[in-house]
Amino acid sequence: MTAKIISGREVAEHILEKELSVKVKELKEKNIVPNLVVILVGEMKASASYVAQKEKFAAKAGIKSEVRRFTAEISEEEILSEIDKINNDSLIHGVIVQLPLPDHISVAKVLNRIHPSKDVDGFTPNNVGKLFLGEDTLVSCTPKGIMQMLRISGTDLSGKNVTVIGRSNIVGKPVSILCQSQNATVTMCHSRTKDLNHKLSDADVIIVAVGVPKFISGDQIPEGAVVIDVGIHRVKSNKTKSGYKLVGDVNFDDVESKVSYITPVPGGVGPMTIASLLRNTLFSAKKIIYSHT
Ligand code: NAP
Repeated sequence: MTAKIISGREVAEHILEKELSVKVKELKEKNIVPNLVVILVGEMKASASYVAQKEKFAAKAGIKSEVRRFTAEISEEEILSEIDKINNDSLIHGVIVQLPLPDHISVAKVLNRIHPSKDVDGFTPNNVGKLFLGEDTLVSCTPKGIMQMLRISGTDLSGKNVTVIGRSNIVGKPVSILCQSQNATVTMCHSRTKDLNHKLSDADVIIVAVGVPKFISGDQIPEGAVVIDVGIHRVKSNKTKSGYKLVGDVNFDDVESKVSYITPVPGGVGPMTIASLLRNTLFSAKKIIYSHT
């Protein structure tokens, strides 16, 4: 079997060029500029690189983005008051806090402070609760991007078996809920799961968000499954100039011949996460605008 690659990069480009930039232009004609603020704390290289990508994508879509940088020594109170300022600024439609934060700052407290209408990462309890209840809301970006890629592959989830490996609040849990809402039967696995291979054996769709490079290999995957690889890791390689390459949680080369569809790393879930963030920003801008008219 030759797997079809679901290129998140191509889909994201399409969303930026054909959907978002058109809608942003319409808003700008009404003198409304969708505006996203990113809070970046500390000097982590990976965080800085994710934020730079978000800025680049936003610029392509015509969405204004501003990065507010703070040193790792900033206090929790200062971050909270920055969020209050943003919540009260009617010209800002979305805010995200790039994670992780330094240990002395409570992630839960910071995320809870964001007004739900500007929570374009979909991490606040209000938005997570609405997702759980099946209400229209700002859905967290990686799961939202994954659902879009499944749609593009033509995968109808109704009645299908979906195995999700990883139960994080930002990927595993929300994507499980979204799959269930489309009538899939979802099995959630984590580090205490016994006999993971058995849980994978009758899966039609496998979503891997574990955070371990090449965690899943070909012999664990049933023939013809659809595989979504969320993981992203920089590992040493003697085949590249830089001496490094990016790999996912799935051993792509080993798995590719068995699956019907697979997302690559890089160029899979990553770009779709950012496209979803920008979609959420637009959604939020429109909602705020219409609530004032
Ligand atoms: P996380 O918060 O670290 O959660 C990892 C999950 O994997 C946990 O639920 C953990 O189980 C489970 N796990 C760990 N070892 C396991 C094992 N041996 N067997 C089964 N389950 C195991 O990770 P995350 O934030 O969801 O991220 C996962 C990966 O996706 C990372 O590589 C991250 O960088 C990447 N990611 C990429 C994007 C993107 O846009 N491309 C976005 C988000 C995340 P327990 O709960 O029992 O500990």
